[in-house]
Amino acid sequence: MNKKLHFFQSIHFKIALVFALLLFITFQIVGAVFIQRLKSENLKQFKQNIEIPAYVNNMLVTQLNEADTAKANDKIKTILDDINNNNISDIQVVDAKGVIRGENNVNNRSMIGQKVTNTNITQVLYSGRTFTQTMYNERDNHRYYISITPLFNASGNNNTVVGAIYVRANLENVYDSVNSVTVIFITAALIATGIGLALAIFVSSAITRPIDEMKKQTARIARGDYSGQVHVYGQDELGQLAQAVNNLSARVEEAQEATESERRRLDLILAHMSDGVIATDRGGKITIINEMACEALEVSATEVTGRSILDVLNIRDQYSIRELLESQDEIILEDLDTMRDQILNANFSLIQRRSGFIIGIVCVLHDITEQQKIDRERRQFVSNVSHELRTPLTSMRSYIEALNEGAWQDPEIAPAFLKVTQEETDRMIRMINDLLSLSRMDLGKVELELELVNLNELFNYILDRFDMMLEKDSNDTREVTKNYTIKRDFTDKDLWVEVDTDKIIQVVDNIMNNAIKYSPDGGVITCRLLETHNHVIMSITDQGLGIPKKEISHIFERFYRVDKARSRAQGGTGLGLAISKEVIEMHRGRIWVDSTEGKGSTFYISLPYEEYGEGDLWDEE
Ligand code: ADP
Repeated sequence: MNKKLHFFQSIHFKIALVFALLLFITFQIVGAVFIQRLKSENLKQFKQNIEIPAYVNNMLVTQLNEADTAKANDKIKTILDDINNNNISDIQVVDAKGVIRGENNVNNRSMIGQKVTNTNITQVLYSGRTFTQTMYNERDNHRYYISITPLFNASGNNNTVVGAIYVRANLENVYDSVNSVTVIFITAALIATGIGLALAIFVSSAITRPIDEMKKQTARIARGDYSGQVHVYGQDELGQLAQAVNNLSARVEEAQEATESERRRLDLILAHMSDGVIATDRGGKITIINEMACEALEVSATEVTGRSILDVLNIRDQYSIRELLESQDEIILEDLDTMRDQILNANFSLIQRRSGFIIGIVCVLHDITEQQKIDRERRQFVSNVSHELRTPLTSMRSYIEALNEGAWQDPEIAPAFLKVTQEETDRMIRMINDLLSLSRMDLGKVELELELVNLNELFNYILDRFDMMLEKDSNDTREVTKNYTIKRDFTDKDLWVEVDTDKIIQVVDNIMNNAIKYSPDGGVITCRLLETHNHVIMSITDQGLGIPKKEISHIFERFYRVDKARSRAQGGTGLGLAISKEVIEMHRGRIWVDSTEGKGSTFYISLPYEEYGEGDLWDEE
């Protein structure tokens, strides 16, 4: 596009050439007319100049009519000698008979008295009409003007030809002067053309320089360089054009900047979007992919740019680009080629020109893994709750039916049946209370009533209650309960921690109850309290059946029980640990379990701890 212009192709040259040619042609025409006119004028002048005056003619006629030829010839000679005209090189006087009667050229005097040989003269004598001729003499390379004029007898009415006068005049002077004028003219024309050419070059360069500058500036604009300015030389059309180019440059720069900043803004938005964005061309080849999309698909932008979106999203088997363009549906992507088991929601929309022409697709990827998980959990939870409530209700119904059908009359069975229904009702109430407190915690309605307590003392207090329960049970002879021993391994230090006392008691109670529940009779339950540099850890170890490894990660889930029948038989709701976990997490603590199947389990509760008071120099970690 930006090809270098050859000088002969440039406007600069063309204008100069046209100028010079115009000048040259003008000079040619003017010169030709002028020289032609000059020549004819000179010739006319010359002819007038060499014309023999009438009185001379009359004198000659008189002499030709003279009978005395010799005398007349002398007279004629005198007359001819008197004609002092430099232009005339030869004058001959011929009488009506064609005899040469006078001659002014000394060299030709011998011809006097001889018959004329020139047929033109005899023709004139015969016809009585003037004859003129321009002839070229090869001998002396001169052009001559020849005029043969008949001489008429003036007396009387009869115009008889008495002779003729032959005049030969050298035309070279006339031509020489015309030629010298022509030379002057041509020289002047050439000089003028030269000056004209120089002027034309100057003028055209004045025109083409701004054009050239504008050409360069527009080329710079095309390259994206807006720094230059076209120099405005004047207020003429070119000046206005230069001004327009400068304005255009400024406009384009503004527009470019606006587009650029818009693009940067878009890039920034794309880069910081929490959703993945992929843009493709018409054919579905990826042109833009943002950081999030790369992360979600575990690819790099350079690696997928130019590849088909169908391959990158692994949906080639289900969809074609045409289908994506036409339907613009949402697609759930589940089997992506990625390490994480994630579920993405892909939303497709078209990029269209104002005319409606489709230029590509935009795909927004949204990670719905968590949402799907929550949805699944929610469904699971509803099914669990229904199931948990149905079981006790079914068993209660069968007992009530049995009672209804007459068992109430049996004093042995009736109390036992009623006891079972009461237990089931209690369990349902417990479960519903647990569910309510969990739901309150989920909704964030539960607020901790924090107070600074000495955890050492609180833990002891809870365990004392369990010891007392054991004593009370052993005194109570009506019912045989499980036997256990609680061992304590506590730090001596007072550990002041900000907790909601009631809730912590509830958690420890729950874990202790589980420990007892799942321990063999007479088992030892070891309780420890220790501190790390910023945590206090309570642990409760039992010698029970333990928890299988693969179940460990689930036991804090709602309604999760390793052995459902056994747990239910023990009156468990399957919600205790879930509540405990919520409570501890509300305290910004952590609860976890360590267990070996068949040997026992250890539950740990860790709470954040900051040291209060003085004298704790050993805590330097
Ligand atoms: P549950 O009311 O059934 O005890 P939890 O939420 O308190 O409900 O406990 C969930 C499950 O974790 C129990 O069903 C049981 O299978 C298991 N589990 C809890 N504590 C222990 C323990 N100390 N030893 C063995 N398994 C336990």
